[in-house]
Amino acid sequence: MQYSEIMIRYGELSTKHKNRMRFINKLRNNISDVLSIYPQVKVTADRDRAHAYLNGADYTAVAESLKQVFGIQNFSPVYKVEKSVEVLKSAVQEIMKETYKEGMTFKITGKRSDHTFELDSRELNQTLGSAVFKAIPNVKAQMKNPDINLQVEIREEAAYISYETFRGAGGLPVGSSGKGMLMLSGGIDSPVAGYLALKRGVDIEAVHFASPPYTSPGALKKAQDLTRKLTKFGGNIQFIEVPFTEIQEEIKAKAPEAYLMTLTRRFMMRITDRIREVRNGLVIINGESLGQVASQTLESMQTINAVTSTPVIRPVVTMDKLEIIDIAQAIDTFDISIQPFEDCCTIFAPDRPKTNPKIKNAEQYEKRMDVKGLVERAVAGIMITEITPQTEKDEVDDLIDNLL
Ligand code: ATP
Ligand code: MG
Repeated sequence: MQYSEIMIRYGELSTKHKNRMRFINKLRNNISDVLSIYPQVKVTADRDRAHAYLNGADYTAVAESLKQVFGIQNFSPVYKVEKSVEVLKSAVQEIMKETYKEGMTFKITGKRSDHTFELDSRELNQTLGSAVFKAIPNVKAQMKNPDINLQVEIREEAAYISYETFRGAGGLPVGSSGKGMLMLSGGIDSPVAGYLALKRGVDIEAVHFASPPYTSPGALKKAQDLTRKLTKFGGNIQFIEVPFTEIQEEIKAKAPEAYLMTLTRRFMMRITDRIREVRNGLVIINGESLGQVASQTLESMQTINAVTSTPVIRPVVTMDKLEIIDIAQAIDTFDISIQPFEDCCTIFAPDRPKTNPKIKNAEQYEKRMDVKGLVERAVAGIMITEITPQTEKDEVDDLIDNLL
């Protein structure tokens, strides 16, 4: 027998009564985005559950994708069968023959939502239970924690049988908390920061600063590949490439070596904030981790942060590098992050960046530049692409590209 659909139960959103439908619609769209790599799968959602209709797609692959989507408590693949006692009997027999192994216990959990159906739930349990004993005479019934719990639900349009439940990712549906701009480098930390923001429902747009020809197309592709890895948790992500060459050259020409990094970061922060404003984001998210490098002392953070009053979320700020790497590996971004393509910061990085830069000094050096004009030109030059989850065909194309 083949599963016809996957029944999806909502997570934490159930507690937020007022916004329930908005949450559900977000989650439905996110699931559709994530499952868009299986074109035949169709997704619907109602107040209590969402459904992914398989239309012949491989349920194990779809289940793997669903396990990642934030806002899902758990889900069960289900068989849809005709609402007739005879059909139900042979269905439970067939399923049990496929799944039963020596010594296993079972129970039937019948539920009749369609009250016109000829058997009530107690009668359903009895009738289908006897059908199972007939097919597998040695099987034992057990009410508490059976090995196989066959859930049978009689609904308006059909009957549904399920016995497997997979745990979902929890968290909140991406987008249910509003939008934030993720400052995404090609490093290890910022994709992890993005993932953690997604987990609590923040819809992210990835802002990436590129300084061609100092940075290579490889560095850009790396940032896009990282973004693609993040789409599996909540759907498509807008990738915003910011032209940063002019600013880096200007800083290099006008400011002392020790302040290059601080000034670079202040410009990034200003530009990200401006893009956020235009695109209706509420916060900025970055991958700063306290004490990791010179730009990440508290003094540095203060001097960099001084250019905006927008909240800056730093999901990995208190984590050790090894803790961050563990997450990067779990979300499959680590191998991309360690590819040897330098981003704009590494290339212009001074040997000895100041670890306690002063706001006053930074402002002084910036007086030598046309800050407003530089920011405006960078914002005017952004390029936006929508990144979608990767299909197997894309993966094959990538492999071929890499081989050539
Ligand atoms: P990451 O591993 O995320 O690159 P990092 O430990 O290398 O972080 P920094 O290089 O100091 O730290 O960068 C701190 C944060 O600044 C990054 O986590 C990221 O959010 C942001 N950032 C740095 N470079 C870029 C870039 N080229 N484009 C966008 N954001 C960037
Ligand atoms: Mg970095």
